[in-house]
Amino acid sequence: MTDQVLIFDTTLRDGEQSPGATMNQHEKLQLARQLERLGVDIIEAGFPASSGGDKEAVSRIASEIKQSRVVGLARSLAEDIETSWSAVEKAAKPGIHTFIATSDIHLKHKLRMSREEVIDRAGKAVRLARSLSDWVEFSCEDATRSDRDFLCKVVETAIREGAGTINIPDTVGYSYPSEIYDLIKFIKVSISETENIIISTHCHDDLGLAVANSLAAVEAGARQVECTINGIGERAGNASLEEIVMALRTRKDHFKLTTGIVTDQIFHTSRLVTAITGMPVQPNKAIVGANAFSHESGIHQDGVIKERSTYEIMDPKTVGVSKSSLVLGKHSGRHAFRERMQALGYSLAEEEVNLTFKRFKELADRKKTIYDEDLEAIVAEEVLRTTETYKLLSVTIMAGSDVVPTATVRMTVEGEECHGAELGNGPVDATYNAILKLTGRRPKLLRFAISGITGGTDALGEASIRLEEDGNVAVGKGAHEDILVASAKAMVNALNRLAYMSRRPQAANRL
Ligand SMILES: [Zn+2]
Repeated sequence: MTDQVLIFDTTLRDGEQSPGATMNQHEKLQLARQLERLGVDIIEAGFPASSGGDKEAVSRIASEIKQSRVVGLARSLAEDIETSWSAVEKAAKPGIHTFIATSDIHLKHKLRMSREEVIDRAGKAVRLARSLSDWVEFSCEDATRSDRDFLCKVVETAIREGAGTINIPDTVGYSYPSEIYDLIKFIKVSISETENIIISTHCHDDLGLAVANSLAAVEAGARQVECTINGIGERAGNASLEEIVMALRTRKDHFKLTTGIVTDQIFHTSRLVTAITGMPVQPNKAIVGANAFSHESGIHQDGVIKERSTYEIMDPKTVGVSKSSLVLGKHSGRHAFRERMQALGYSLAEEEVNLTFKRFKELADRKKTIYDEDLEAIVAEEVLRTTETYKLLSVTIMAGSDVVPTATVRMTVEGEECHGAELGNGPVDATYNAILKLTGRRPKLLRFAISGITGGTDALGEASIRLEEDGNVAVGKGAHEDILVASAKAMVNALNRLAYMSRRPQAANRL
């Protein structure tokens, strides 16, 4: 058996199913490029049959990504499989990932099919997929709650029809490490053909066991792990890529396995996912949380200063956490700016450099030192997040102790410029009233928060907002020296996501 564990990243598919984490095509492409730099073996770029927009995003990713394999998800239906193939076929390394549920509970309540019908459907799906693609993965949805003998029959059928990768997902996050270990061993012992294929694991974190379960599956012989950056995903999320990779690397003495991940790209990738989706990482999150490498207690600090390994099992540099905080200022030129951007992992096109450099100069006029976090906020706004439907042009606010707060907003709505003024209880309320009036949307505000991106009173303020409309939840972020402008930007960002989501129908089947 090989000692390399393949990393199958599903941030763009399963991760995007997180409430509020919807990404548009442009954002998906940016992330796919970074995943390739990170060295993931397989990028699951989307679920092409779920919508025309998703299919287009997958095919754009497929035509650009060269190093990583690009695969599309498909239910065990001819139409899904053909759509998926037409989206990925231009990729340097394409693949189809098809699935069907195998647990009785799914058969009875969701598929309303007999076991025989499921075997038949799975076999036909893999055969069709193999007629199109050399690389086919088959997944038994809800495998960990399936009858083991039946599960083996389905797996045997899929292998016989040509699937080279068999995925055993813990779709509902129900299993525990020794159980999943035992299940993978059982499959390997029961089906001798598994020797020539890759067994994959795909664990959800409903009980906080996704990473532990994935590692247990690897110990039992799985050689592919499906995971997401920051562990984002449906409900409690997926196994987190950074934790899996760093566990295998840090405890190589035990696992004796490797991955192809360029670990010093981990931190940047995590920040990029946060910047794009607006979903923050909890400070105490392993590997990529803000506190993951900071030592508060005096005893620990003293120990680390004397000898790092007393309390640190990983060097922060391995995952790309840089200690240099002071970077650029008013006198920094375009060259220095560009270099710093490259060091942060952004490879910007000429016109993107122009846009971001202009914003940087404006900020540097008002703020003495510009930190990496400030630069990331600028890239997020100017490059990563496109303003497809709505764009904020200007906001002017009158507020104080003796006036009724009034906001005048100028923006474009689907390319048409418009403006309007509204009153409110406070300046943010007035601004939001004006924006909602112009856009004609009526979302419910679920959460609103403001924080400073870096320290100091001249820091960029970051507003984050969570909206709900017709059952869709969208998050938005905005950064500006003026927190009121930041708040307006966050609202417009979230409305763009809602507009995107309402155009895109949601598929019913998820893995
Ligand atoms: Zn999943």
